[in-house]
Order: sequence, then structure tokens, then C-alpha cells
Amino acid sequence: MKKHNFSAGPCILPQEVMRKASEAVLELDGIGLSLIEISHRSKEFVAIMEKARSLALELLGLEGKGYQAIFLQGGASMQFLMTAYNLLEKKAGYVNTGTWSQKAIKEARLFGEVVEVASSQEQNFNHIPKGYTIPSDLDYLHLTSNNTIFGTQIKKFPKTDVSLVCDMSSDIFSRQLDFSKFDMIYAGAQKNMGPAGTTLVVVKEEILGRVSRKIPSMLDYAVHISKDSMFNTPPVFPVYVSMLTMQWLKGLGGIAAIEEINEKKANLLYSEIDLNPVFSGFAAKEDRSNMNATFNITDDTLKDIFDEKCKEAGISGINGHRSVGGYRASMYNALSLESVGVLVDIMSEMEKKG
Ligand SMILES: *Cc1c(COP(=O)(O)O)cnc(C)c1O
Repeated sequence: MKKHNFSAGPCILPQEVMRKASEAVLELDGIGLSLIEISHRSKEFVAIMEKARSLALELLGLEGKGYQAIFLQGGASMQFLMTAYNLLEKKAGYVNTGTWSQKAIKEARLFGEVVEVASSQEQNFNHIPKGYTIPSDLDYLHLTSNNTIFGTQIKKFPKTDVSLVCDMSSDIFSRQLDFSKFDMIYAGAQKNMGPAGTTLVVVKEEILGRVSRKIPSMLDYAVHISKDSMFNTPPVFPVYVSMLTMQWLKGLGGIAAIEEINEKKANLLYSEIDLNPVFSGFAAKEDRSNMNATFNITDDTLKDIFDEKCKEAGISGINGHRSVGGYRASMYNALSLESVGVLVDIMSEMEKKG
């Protein structure tokens, strides 16, 4: 039986995507060869890469606006250093909203001055800092739109003339935003798009080529763009599956359609957390993530019963990250409202026990 998969990442993908992906491993579209045994220069794979790149821009509403989408390797963690390598000449600003922001800050410091313009570290990252001042002389301001570990999400992005760079690994394609506010967006595939092994990078071309340092080819966005995201052998399987997921999303009606479902799922779970005295939410209400809901059980003696009930119902992956404890239910695009309903039913049964 397929479990209700609340894993934070790698995570659930649409069943239909996984079925098509597994078929393509045996034989791609009736060509008598597997997806993973053909040249990345074959016309079949070139078409897949082009489709993936154009779908990413189409879904984000960035077609014809001077942006390029490329699929790189090294995870979102590689982007922590690549962004700074390519964009940081003198000074960059970072908003510190959790573990991933901190890792990005650490890498950027290797390349120039980094100012932490705001931080929620003192409250163990349970909220998104607001109302901070953004120095006007920054090369860019780096944000993390959704904090996968702490369960917070930026709802309102700062208004500024400074170039915005955003790590959207765990909420890419989950909600409507004016994506043209960002000069660069990156997202590791394994949270909401595909299997681990590729990272989507969307960049406004005009911001490249401004730093004076020499950049090794593999770390140079301009090089990857000039080679149509095929400077070296791309991760063919993760790119293909990401393409399938984007097709699936487009078929559903795009980001607008999935956002509506994502809001229903989040509302269902958060209203249970708020009404049920057995559970308490971790993140500040106004900053709650629609992707990763973090919560605790208020009565520790009920923990074993709750865990056992979840296990019996086939609920998987809700243990909290070690830096927060408690529980974390990740509700990425492919998770159904029904799966959230199963979890919520168990939570409400716990209240009767308590
Ligand atoms: C998971 C995650 C990362 C790290 O991704 P890797 O692909 O493992 O390097 C970075 N940022 C955010 C927001 C994440 O959720």
C-alpha cells in the first residue's frame, strides 16, 4: 500500500510522474532505448532539456523577460557558493532565517563582505524578520523563501531596488508570486520538483558578468547558459523527472491551481493544530509555511500512542528535524488533501484520549 508521504525531502512526487519515469528507464517513448542509456546530445534528450527549461520559465511567468533557466548539479548547497562567486563583488546582504540561510552566509563570506540585514536566530528561527533596513549599496540581497526545517515562509517580500536572490528549494512552484521581482531563483529539485541530483537556476541574464574575478567554467552561470545547460553531461534522469513534474503541474492548471490545493491542505492541518490542545504549532502564525508544518505534542505521555496510530495509518516522514524536535508534516505539491485528512483525523482522535 502506498504510504501517506510527509517527508521533507527527498519527498513525494506525483504517482503519474513516477510511473512515466520508471517506464522511461526501460524505454523512452518507444525509441527502443532507455532514457539513461542515450547520449545527452541525442535529439530526444536535447528536446527534454529544452522542454524542462521552457516549462520552468512558463510556470513562473518569466518567458520573454530576459531570464534563463538552467539545470545544474551540486544541489542547492552548490548555489550557496555559486551565487556569491558570480554576483558578489563588494558587499551582499543576507536575511538569516534558519539553517539553510546560515549555510549560504558561510559560503558567501569566502567571496566578499556579507551583512546579515536581519535574523530570527535568537528565537530559534520561529518567525520571519520584518521591517528591517536594506542598505542600498548591496550587490544583492539573499532570501530563503521557505525554511524547510523551521516551518516558516516569507509571505511578503521586501520592496527594494536591490537585486533579489532567493533560495526557493522547498516552495518553488507552490504559490503565485511576482517572480520577476527576483533577479535569481534557485531550487534543489528534491523538495517539490523531482528526484535529488539537479538544481533549477533561473537567472536574469543582465545581472551576470559584473564581477571582476575569474570564474571556473563549471561554476560560471554564463557558461552554462551559453551551452544551453549542457556544458557537461547533465543529470539526465533528474532533469527528465523534473520535466514530467512540470508537465503534470501545467496540466493541473499551473501554480494558481496548485496554490489553491496547498492552501486547503495547510488550513486543514493548522486549524487542527490550533483547536487541539494536544498539539501546539512551532512557527509564528503569520509566518507559517504552507509546505512544512512544524508542531509539538503538548503531553509527552501521548507521544507513543500518536506515533503508533500514525504508523498504522501508513503515515510516513513526520518526525521533526533534530534542531526543532517534535513533528514536521511536509505538504508538497504532490501530497493529496486526503493524506492530510488522514493525519488530522488521528490528531483529533488524540484529543479524545487526552
Ligand atoms: C534542502 C534545502 C537546501 C539544500 O539542498 P541540497 O540540494 O541538499 O544542497 C537548501 N535550501 C533549502 C531551503 C532547502 O530546503
